[in-house]
Amino acid sequence: MRRREALLVAAIAALRPDRALSAPVPAQPFAMAEVAPGLHVRQGVHEEAAPENQDGIANIGFVIGKEAVAVLDPGGSRADGERLRASIREQTDLPIRYVVMTHLHPDHVFGAVAFADDRPVFVAHARMAAMLVQRGEFYRNVLADALGIEEAGDYAKPDLLVSDTASIDLGGRRLQLRAHSTAHTDNDLSILDEQTGTLWLGDLLFVDRVPALDGSILGWLRETKALRDVPATRAVPGHGPTVVSWPGAVAPQERYLGGLVRDIRAIISHGGDIEKAVATAGQAERANWALFDDYNGRNVTSAFKELEWE
Ligand SMILES: [Zn+2]
Repeated sequence: MRRREALLVAAIAALRPDRALSAPVPAQPFAMAEVAPGLHVRQGVHEEAAPENQDGIANIGFVIGKEAVAVLDPGGSRADGERLRASIREQTDLPIRYVVMTHLHPDHVFGAVAFADDRPVFVAHARMAAMLVQRGEFYRNVLADALGIEEAGDYAKPDLLVSDTASIDLGGRRLQLRAHSTAHTDNDLSILDEQTGTLWLGDLLFVDRVPALDGSILGWLRETKALRDVPATRAVPGHGPTVVSWPGAVAPQERYLGGLVRDIRAIISHGGDIEKAVATAGQAERANWALFDDYNGRNVTSAFKELEWE
């Protein structure tokens, strides 16, 4: 790293001690960054799905072993998946043997169609298959409305279902997979790249972009606590920088989710209703997150329904 860049990184780190000290920043939108040897990440933009971004809004990437490649989230649309596949072929000709899907949300998995001809093993949390039967059609329609039917892509039916833990071997490089209890969704899978101590978290970790709750707020806080003990020094969030320090970078998300729980419990204990909660809970965090107004109300609604029965 050049001296000026090093100074800049140090200055940023001093301002934001919870953040990565040297997250590689891609040269242009949708470019890949190698965040650890053989581990490449494409940083998503903090936007909703639109034709201009081709739903390239999540962090996606791949890991290269001695014998094979694993895709970690295949992208948000057909075009996003094709772009990812082209990036892999710029780095290696090794077979793409696995496509791991961290959870069912379209921005992470609808690029799966771009890898069909590689005939990889599609890997997912055991509960993802059932959720896709429930929601696949809905997601396909929403994305087709945003991008056009040809561009939307589709998810792939998982071949290898993980209900607890599993590992895959890329040739001298093992990835540990872990199926989580309900947190961001009910089908979150995390991946530990043992060789580099990098934890790929999908949407179990949001950095900068406000977390979106589609599972259990208490479950998410519990899983986060357990994840803190994973022997990793850095993590790749589902949304945010290409790489962050672990576990330090999860602190803002814990603060946001913990704050929602506290605010909502206080409202419930004073007889307040869900409208009051939506209007006030979490608002102290508003300035800290991108897309806050798009998601905080939904998060509060979901969390309120969970907490009112305690
Ligand atoms: Zn998600």
